[in-house]
Formats: sequence, structure tokens, C-alpha cells
Amino acid sequence: MAVPQALRCVLCGKEYSPGEVQYTCPSCGLDGTLDVLYDMEKLRKEISRNSFLSGPPNLWRYRELLPVERESSYLPLAAGNTPLYAVPSLASELGIKDLWIKDDGRNPTASLKDRASAVGVAKALDFRQSAIACASTGNAASSLAGFAAVAGLPAYIFVPRRAPAAKVAQLLVYGARVILVEGNYEAAFHLATEAIEHYGWYNRNCAINPYLVEGKKTCGLEIAEELSWEVPDRVVISVGDGCCISGIYKAFRDLLDLGLTERMPKITGVQAANCAPLAKAIEENASRVAFVEGGTVADSIDVGAPRNWAKALRAVRESRGSMITVSDEAILQAIPTLARRSGVFAEPAGSAAFAGLLEMAERGLLGSSERIAVVITGNGLKDIESARKSVGEPLRVDPDLKDLQRKLREIPS
Ligand SMILES: *Cc1c(COP(=O)(O)O)cnc(C)c1O
Ligand SMILES: [Zn+2]
Repeated sequence: MAVPQALRCVLCGKEYSPGEVQYTCPSCGLDGTLDVLYDMEKLRKEISRNSFLSGPPNLWRYRELLPVERESSYLPLAAGNTPLYAVPSLASELGIKDLWIKDDGRNPTASLKDRASAVGVAKALDFRQSAIACASTGNAASSLAGFAAVAGLPAYIFVPRRAPAAKVAQLLVYGARVILVEGNYEAAFHLATEAIEHYGWYNRNCAINPYLVEGKKTCGLEIAEELSWEVPDRVVISVGDGCCISGIYKAFRDLLDLGLTERMPKITGVQAANCAPLAKAIEENASRVAFVEGGTVADSIDVGAPRNWAKALRAVRESRGSMITVSDEAILQAIPTLARRSGVFAEPAGSAAFAGLLEMAERGLLGSSERIAVVITGNGLKDIESARKSVGEPLRVDPDLKDLQRKLREIPS
């Protein structure tokens, strides 16, 4: 449990007390997302690398660095503590020193979004809110639905027309009030924002609510702890709204400020070539982001108007990282490659990060001494249609050994 000291605007730097502002900076509007700041002087004396060992095997082991103020707000549904797999054979093929795959599809509702929902729903309970809402391309929605169900809070969820069927089914199963908006994610986002204000629901939108990136930050904290605090040289993650990448940056920022680690890894964000407003802003060294129409198979990063653009650009620039884009074809191809090499089955937005790594290797952008962690943000079962496009058909046989033998002989080996 940590009581935040202040909320600081990413654009103008103005600081607010947590009671003073609920969501974004009043001077900068929706673009002015807020960083959650703690009393680092005090925490430095209280926290050591060993402090976390006694915590539970989920994201609440980092409770001293999470902004939840009441113990009763922690829910039993356990997010975090996902595995980090070393894949040495791939590392040597790619010409780098070490490669780790962080499987965040192993969260309770099968995506990294659970880290944010755990904290978001806990904050709703902290603030004694009576309902919670969000707009989402799918995973934030199913995640919120799961955590809200456990908390007994009604959840109002706005999803775009293109959300995959599995994600919508997951929402309905959890009992959320699902509003399927005839439009893209941006349209769903706008309607949700209006409705939230109109009805007074608690806002789980990660790019608006400052506390949610704190939940996502636990992915980075885990990577550091899993590597015995020897942080990787680079962390690769896919980018839509820009909250996950901001969470990764915040993790390594907090650890550095606490003196628990010695370096900031380079952070590489991956976007789909068809929807890459942040990659373009980095390439052009722009101070703002020009929004695009979008349209990629990786629905979770099909965000033409990234809401947390300012924090995302900062994560890349201050870590001296990079952005890279990958085609939809490369994203789909990366699904079976990743599964066959590491055992991790990713949805397209997850495999996009791995495709980004392959693209960097191809272009000679990786150093031979680099130790790299790739975050796989969502599970492949979320989007079976896309997975099927990346693989062949099964062998069809009669229930007869002779037929099986004949057909097996025909398979090219
Ligand atoms: C939400 C999501 C992302 C992108 O995260 P942002 O915070 O929107 O940048 C990537 N992959 C998956 C699977 C997601 O659900
Ligand atoms: Zn501001």
C-alpha cells in the first residue's frame, strides 16, 4: 500500500495532490495524462530487493509501489507473476546474447490488461464507486469484466464493432453490460467518455486514469526481479494506446529512483505498419502525434488515435529506445514461429512484439551483446480466426489405418 505523493502532468509538469484531480491535467485536458509519484526518499529507506520476497505470488507483492490505499481493495483474482522464458537457441540464431519471452497471456483473463484492471478495480473500491466503465478494443474490456465481477461492481463496457468474437463472449460470460458500438475504437472511446461523465461511473480507461499504468508497471518490475535485478538491455513490446509501454518505462524508472537497479533498458515499441502513428512521430522527431485511420489484423493495437501518446513517446525517448513497424503478414507469421520456438501462443498484438524483434534482427539493428526481453501481451486463444490464417489445414483421413498411411506418405517432409 502506497499513498501517492502527487500526480504530475506529462505535458506541463504541473503537480496535483491525489485528492485534487481524478483523471487528467485540468490545464492540458485529455492529452495531459498524469504520472503517479511516491515519496521516494521514504521508500528508499523502506524497500530493498528482498522486500518483495515475502509478498504473495501475484502483482500485490509490489504493493509498496502500487497506489492502492486500503487492504480490503485487493481482490483474490491474481494478476501477474507470469513466466519469463529463456530461449537460448533463438538468441543465438538472432545473433544476440540472451532472449527472454514474458508470457503475459498467462494472466487470469489472458492478457496483460489484468495488471491494470486489478489496480483499477481496487481504486474503484478505494474510492467507494458504485460502477466502473471503459472503452476497449477487447482485452481491457474482458479484463475489467472479470475483475469487476469478483468485486461485485457493475461494469459498463464499450467495444468497437470489430472486436473478435472470443473477447465479446468473455465479457458476456463475466456478466458485464456490453455496449457494441457501430464504429471503430475511437468512436467507442468517445461514447464511453461521454457516458462515464453523464452517469458518474468510475473510468477504467488506462490513458485517462493515472493509476492504471501503475498496474501495468508490474510487468516491468517482474522482469527485473525474474532476472535478479540485472535488467535487460532492451525490452520489446507492442503499442496501441501507449499505456503498456509507459508502464514498462515507469517500472524501470521507479527501480532506478529507488536504487534497486543500475540501468534503464532501451524500450522498443512495435506497431503495425497499417496503424503506426507513434512510430511515425518518433521517426519524424515530432512533439505531437498525427492520428491515422488504422486497420490491422492485430486488433488490440489497432489504435489510430493513441490516447497515451505523450507518455509513450517519452518512454521511447528517455530510454534511448526505438519504434519499429511490422506488416500484418509478419505479425501472422510470427504466431506459429513464436509458438514453435518458445511454446507461447500469442494473439496478433502479442506476436507483433516478436515480429518486431525479428525485423530488427533482419535489419541489423541488434547488438551481439544484447540481452533482450520481449513481452507477449495476450493469449492466442483470444483470436482463433487470425491464428488459423497463419497455419495450414489438418490432415483429413478416414477412420482407417490404410488411409492414414497413404495420406502420411503424401505429406512433404
Ligand atoms: C492493449 C494491448 C496492447 C497495447 O497496449 P496499449 O497500452 O494500448 O499500448 C498490446 N497487446 C495486447 C494483447 C493488448 O491487449
Ligand atoms: Zn498539464
